Amino acid sequence: FRLQATPLKSCHGETGGVVVVLRDITERKKLEQMRTEFVANVSHELRTPLTSIKGFLETLLDGAIDDPGTSRHFLEIISQETERLTRLVDELLNLSKIEERRVVHRWQRVNLEDIISRVVSLFRPRAGEKSLTLILEVSRDLPAVYGDPDMLAQVLINLLDNAVKYTPPRGSITIRAMVRGDQLRVEVEDTGIGIPAESLPRVFERFYRVDKARSRELGGYGIGLAIVKHIIRAHGGKIDVQSTPGKGSLFFFTLPLAENVSG
Ligand code: ADP
Repeated sequence: FRLQATPLKSCHGETGGVVVVLRDITERKKLEQMRTEFVANVSHELRTPLTSIKGFLETLLDGAIDDPGTSRHFLEIISQETERLTRLVDELLNLSKIEERRVVHRWQRVNLEDIISRVVSLFRPRAGEKSLTLILEVSRDLPAVYGDPDMLAQVLINLLDNAVKYTPPRGSITIRAMVRGDQLRVEVEDTGIGIPAESLPRVFERFYRVDKARSRELGGYGIGLAIVKHIIRAHGGKIDVQSTPGKGSLFFFTLPLAENVSG
């Protein structure tokens, strides 16, 4: 806090009181620190695949290129790393667009049931590969919410993507949608590896991953949930998570019903 005190003087020069101004500079400091951390994180994430690409290219140029088997293998790794870089840059652009509200929202009445069934069908093949059961429990006559259908689909895509990634074969993922009071509540529950209690408050932070090595292996940068949180907030909703390591996780969010949203 910055403290500023100014004595109040009357027209006769007597001191009549003191005006105290408390300015919260901690918030600004925190933002600055977050920005510095963000840049450090991005640089690190970009450097890892670049170092690996450079290493394999150098080895190829040093002679490995003459062996067709080795060069094919190295080129495949280079191609995968390039794809990872492209995905990272895409995700970063996506996140900054959402954070800076540069995305053009197509606000309208949205039937979430349609979005849920569309997104779930996108995941059926991947779930099938891992023998995961996808269970849908959507209340009948679900009322509409007010929002951007593509953004809301993105929320479900990111949550389901994680559920599929972090649930071992033969587990199950349940997607529920219901009315709770004056809100619509959506849940994505999995029987996966779960999240340790100390990590729960941080999973919605940009770049936060419980286990960096494992998450990177699975292709994650810790950006998906940050995007989810921004979208839900922009819709006037709330998101949270409960989890038990080794048992599974429950991500749930609420959205105001369209009938209660003015404008
Ligand atoms: P990532 O792309 O790394 O999955 P997210 O922002 O989507 O990034 O998630 C942040 C971290 O939260 C993940 O790295 C993972 O450790 C944890 N996490 C997210 N969803 C789940 C889940 N359903 N089960 C277990 N851990 C999860």
